[in-house]
Amino acid sequence: MSYEDWFRQDRLPHIYCAGCGNGTIINCTLAAVDEMGWKKEETIFVSGIGCSSRAPGYILTDSLHTTHGRALAFATGVKMANPDLHVVVFTGDGDLAAIGGNHFIHACRRNIDLTVVCMNNQIYGMTGGQGSPTTPKGCLSSTTPYGCTEIPFDLCELATAAGANYVSRWTSYHVKELEKAVKVGLETPGFSFIEALVQCPTAFGRRNKFRQVTDHVEYLKVHSLLKAKRDRMLEAGEKIPEDMYVVGELTKRSRPAMGVKP
Ligand code: SF4
Repeated sequence: MSYEDWFRQDRLPHIYCAGCGNGTIINCTLAAVDEMGWKKEETIFVSGIGCSSRAPGYILTDSLHTTHGRALAFATGVKMANPDLHVVVFTGDGDLAAIGGNHFIHACRRNIDLTVVCMNNQIYGMTGGQGSPTTPKGCLSSTTPYGCTEIPFDLCELATAAGANYVSRWTSYHVKELEKAVKVGLETPGFSFIEALVQCPTAFGRRNKFRQVTDHVEYLKVHSLLKAKRDRMLEAGEKIPEDMYVVGELTKRSRPAMGVKP
């Protein structure tokens, strides 16, 4: 099979805006799922609400498109009811870290055997461009018209601190690295969290001086700092610039997990 066999071709064209990064993340995820050799009838995709959460509607398996912020609660129910199923969750920064923030930390704490792919566009895209918990300081949104003054969540540090077994961050520029990271997440028992920073030309890009889609992808590329380089900089006592995103495999461990097939 190829990853294309996982798509519902009859649902195309999709709803995503031209230049949206979400399609790249869905492709990478399905390529990793395809490499696992899983059967469609044993794989289920779960999502909440938002642009990212439209993804399961384009995938040829059973899926749950649930209420805002609650994807992890539904996914937990699916996995606990039937540990034989492979459960993959698509979510976004608003869905996961604001409305679903409590579900997120407790799913990590329980270390339940799910793989979560978060398309982090750093804003609420579908509902009008409001600031989210990951909107960077100084960035414009419909609710921060003079620039966001809050400190954003680092979703990967949050997942690690709360107990997830696997945590990785890449961007829509790093397609091969992202595909590999999702595959490792799928293979790792327990809670796996993969954050993918994505360009969102409609809600974020046009408000924040990214005139072209490629400008934003280039920004993500040059503001990515490999974990190994970050570690060397820390050892040397160097300061990590605030506007850099640490990318790579950030956490891999084997804490006891829930929902793992005996
Ligand atoms: Fe993609 Fe942003 Fe459009 Fe949503 S609003 S589909 S995230 S570009």
